[in-house]
Amino acid sequence: MSKFWSPFVKDLVPYVPGEQPKLINLVKLNTNENPYGPSPKAIAAMQAELGDSLRLYPDPNGERLKCSVADFYGVQPSQVFVGNGSDEVLAHAFHGLFQHGKPLLFPDVTYSFYPVYCGLYGIDYETVRLDERFQIDVADYARPNGGIIFPNPNAPTGCVLALDAIERLLQANPDSVVLVDEAYIDFGGISAVALVDRYPNLLVTQTLSKSRSLAGLRVGLAIGHPDLIEALERIKNSFNSYPLDRIAIAGAAAAFEDRAYFEQTCRQVIASRESVTAAMEAMGFEVLPSAANFVFTRHPQHDAATLAADLREQGIIVRHFKQPRIEQYLRITIGAPEQNQALIGALKGIV
Ligand code: PMP
Repeated sequence: MSKFWSPFVKDLVPYVPGEQPKLINLVKLNTNENPYGPSPKAIAAMQAELGDSLRLYPDPNGERLKCSVADFYGVQPSQVFVGNGSDEVLAHAFHGLFQHGKPLLFPDVTYSFYPVYCGLYGIDYETVRLDERFQIDVADYARPNGGIIFPNPNAPTGCVLALDAIERLLQANPDSVVLVDEAYIDFGGISAVALVDRYPNLLVTQTLSKSRSLAGLRVGLAIGHPDLIEALERIKNSFNSYPLDRIAIAGAAAAFEDRAYFEQTCRQVIASRESVTAAMEAMGFEVLPSAANFVFTRHPQHDAATLAADLREQGIIVRHFKQPRIEQYLRITIGAPEQNQALIGALKGIV
């Protein structure tokens, strides 16, 4: 606190990201990064960008990247927005699409940045309880709202909502924006991008941080009706003309163009998730069905915080949330095969 702070800053409750430890040699399974590294073509494209051209500003519109994303999904570039990580894209959506005087709805167990953005932009919200199996029931969202947002698959549960349920939600809420945060969609879900041409109230966000292994580059995107995209552009152009630098635009576009590498590494993560799940279930863990690059799990006989601390002593970091309903769960990122083996070996020793 300082006398220089505006009253607004004093009342903010910021988001706390997962730890990025300085120690090396840790088995880092706490922030859902991809173990396989970015596409070699993306790295080559970024290296090619490192030169004299950096004295020039980047394209404020990120057109090259919008075209690569549009090609990948078979939509128009006017249906694509790009930003500095999907967190920034989400922030602009909250600011530009959810301030309607009626509460925004999202699940009670979900991405903990949503209430933070509500605080930042003065948006009223109500949480909607997930059912006993941690699934979203779209019938529970039949109430007055100024927008609806949820991750699909949900975080930190990993549970996926089927496209027909999303479609029912869109039909029941024609006057609200329904934002589907697809940060983890490529590890097992079906993207709602397939619905954007039919539903002008649908906005889908994605990130290159997970399935394209570029968390360090900070690139995210949104796909939806051009009117929704224009709202995001208006916010962006009132905030920062150049959220994506030249390296990010080049690397992200090349990553989207390398479909083969993307598909292959996603398949490897999914296969590892299935074997980690089986090994954990054999030890008595309950593992929620996951369509993401992490598992959400509890052991009926072992306290989650203690398990996390014991793993940490062995150099393995996982995520534990001190939060109602999920304080007995751990969220564990799927790592490289040797990391997953270290995890399973350590858990066997503990339980
Ligand atoms: N949405 C969800 C559900 C997430 O878990 C994350 C990662 N923390 C993000 C969005 C943001 O990812 P990024 O800003 O790296 O694109």
